Amino acid sequence: MDLVKVEVLFDRATLKEKVAELGKQISRDYQGRELLVVGILKGAFVFMADLIREMNVPVELDFMDVSSYGLSTSSSGEVRIVKDLEYSIKDRDVLIVEDIVDTGLTLKYISEVLKNRNPRSIKIACLLDKPSRRKADIYPDYVGYSIPDKFVVGYGLDYAEQYRHYPAVCVLKPAVYEN
Ligand code: 5GP
Repeated sequence: MDLVKVEVLFDRATLKEKVAELGKQISRDYQGRELLVVGILKGAFVFMADLIREMNVPVELDFMDVSSYGLSTSSSGEVRIVKDLEYSIKDRDVLIVEDIVDTGLTLKYISEVLKNRNPRSIKIACLLDKPSRRKADIYPDYVGYSIPDKFVVGYGLDYAEQYRHYPAVCVLKPAVYEN
């Protein structure tokens, strides 16, 4: 890992424990039901891959891709569906899996679009939450960690499409994006 550019916030072992805890909690809450897990691309794919393997209820997967920050580190507030779900969610128990909730504008938009398709239930799981940045009334049901207002990368999260493969969640040193 390029330690000149990042500081480790949660290492691999710490994340594994937390994700296992979330998986257990979700499995308890959905006992006897079947879940449709909807991953928000691209950032959520690493968290989602680990989370579903910690769950012991029947699970089906689908993905949605929405426009994100691009090269900037702050939200434009503008959200657009780039790839929609493959399956109908009518009468399904849906769990949206997101990497990080920041302003909440992305999830507000996504959850409203999905609610209009009449699922049986809809909940949100996110690995990271930055509650101090919230602009929309979004309250994730399952949260790994609440973090301060710092730009993080790794474990699926990028900066300009880099760093997604880092196994740890790291804080990107501001010098990287201030230049
Ligand atoms: P929101 O709409 O909640 O402001 O933004 C959510 C999306 O912004 C996340 O799915 C993620 O793609 C991006 N995002 C927000 N904060 C961070 C961050 O600290 N690091 C990275 N890499 N992406 C972030």
